[in-house]
Parts: sequence; structure tokens; C-alpha cells
Amino acid sequence: MITLINPQGYCMGVKRAIKIVDETLKKDVSKPIYLVGKLIHNDYVIKNYEKLGLITLDENNKEKEIDQINTGTLIFQAHGTNPKIIEKAKAKGLNVIDATCPYVKLIHNNIIQYLKKNYDIIYIGKNKHSESEAVLSLSDRIHFVTNINDLNELKITNQNIYVTNQTTLSSLDLKDLLDLIKEKYINATIDNKICLATLERQEAIINSNYDLIIVVGDSLSSNSKRLYELAKEKTDAIFVSSLNDLKKYNLTTYSNIGITSGASTPHILVKEIYDYLIK
Ligand code: SF4
Repeated sequence: MITLINPQGYCMGVKRAIKIVDETLKKDVSKPIYLVGKLIHNDYVIKNYEKLGLITLDENNKEKEIDQINTGTLIFQAHGTNPKIIEKAKAKGLNVIDATCPYVKLIHNNIIQYLKKNYDIIYIGKNKHSESEAVLSLSDRIHFVTNINDLNELKITNQNIYVTNQTTLSSLDLKDLLDLIKEKYINATIDNKICLATLERQEAIINSNYDLIIVVGDSLSSNSKRLYELAKEKTDAIFVSSLNDLKKYNLTTYSNIGITSGASTPHILVKEIYDYLIK
């Protein structure tokens, strides 16, 4: 039996970012149009936009790349961007469109409010992920925690601490870290910000019963990688970005296969895999 594990399809933030780009393409905006970093973490989507003439700027070198640009439209990615980079681009007279997911923006705003109240911030996230990097750019008073070792090394004397996190972490790993933070800083204000789109997909895996789970996603997609980690803990699991990847595997020994996908995986890629497997 082959099952599409619910939910599937783009999350709200990805849908919104794609709509922003599609609408921009229809408008008479200043050209060329640049995607600053990966709009969403899915190469299939980005390559399709590049075929339409959009230019992707290097996520890790965006500030320098924008420095070289004197005309055009910049669309900033869904995971968020250092606000100083956005302001600098506006000050240069470039047409700036911010496709940051509103939920990610909410986290930025919450952190800014707590910083104004002189709180120290503990932010739990993944190293080198664009969402974490954007948050860390907000202030030097944000303590970045990626694992228990980072937490053990933390020495915050401020009694006022606000704790929040990257939206696409593993809910189980995050819970462990938050429990430890509560023990270490008993007065800390904990604000778990795992996104619903992430949580629902993870819970569907945790409560599943397949002999193989296929995770369809991009290797850059944090929420897809977390799904794969969870799936591996449950049962046999494989991570593929497309049907071509899947064809490398011999699946004849499996009779009950579940297919899940990241919040930025186009449904067409999942459907191709499903259609291939049910034949
Ligand atoms: S996973 Fe959640 S936070 Fe991330 S883009 Fe989608 S809706 Fe926004």
C-alpha cells in the first residue's frame, strides 16, 4: 500500500513567497529581478524561476552581491534577512520586496520587543541556516544555542530571559532543550515557536506505522531534513528530491510505504513519486 501522509503541499509562508514572486513577474517592475538567497529551500522552484530570467544571489554573500547592483528589483527570501541589508538596499534606491514569512517576522518582532525591555534572548536554531542568521543579526544580546553543549556553556546573569527558536526544528529535540533551559533559568520566558506546518508533519510521522517512509524534499530544507531524522527513528526511511533520486532504490521488499514531504516541496514532485509507485 502506498499512502500520501497528510499534510502535504506548501505551508502558508512558502505559498505567500511564491505568490509574491509570481505577481512581481506580471508587473512592470525595475529589471533585472533578483532573488536574494533562495526564496524557499527548494531547488526545483528556484531553477524554474531562473529559467524565467530571475537571478539568484548567493545566500552567504548577499550583502557584497547587493553592493554590486545599481538597478533592479530585489525579492528577499521567506526565511528572513538581516534588516540592515534590506535597509541598505532601499537606501541605494533598489526596488525592495520582502517575502519574509509573517510567522518568521513575528519572531523577529517578539525578540525586538523583549530586547527593548532589557531581556537577554536565548535563540535555539541550526547553524548556518538563513532563518537563524537573520535572527542573530538583530542584536549581539541573542545567545545562540544549537545543542546541549552550547547550553552548558551559557552564562547569563540577567534574570530576564526570553527563549525562542527556529520554526523548523525537531519538536522532540526542542522539547529536550527547553526542559533543560527551564531547569537552568527557572524564570525564563519560554516561547516555543515551532511552526504548525512543521509540527503537523512531524506528528504525522511520529504517529505513523509504515515499513518505509519516503521523505521528498531539498537537502537545504531544514523541515524536510527533520522529517527524515524522525522517520529514520521510526522505521526505514529514504530522503529524495525527485523521482529520479527514488529510482536508485530497490523498494520491492516494502509493502506499506508512506510518503511525506517538506513544507517547501512542490506537490508535483510528490505526485510523480506517488504515481510511479502505484503503477
Ligand atoms: S514553515 Fe512555517 S515559518 Fe517556515 S515559511 Fe512555512 S509557514 Fe513560515
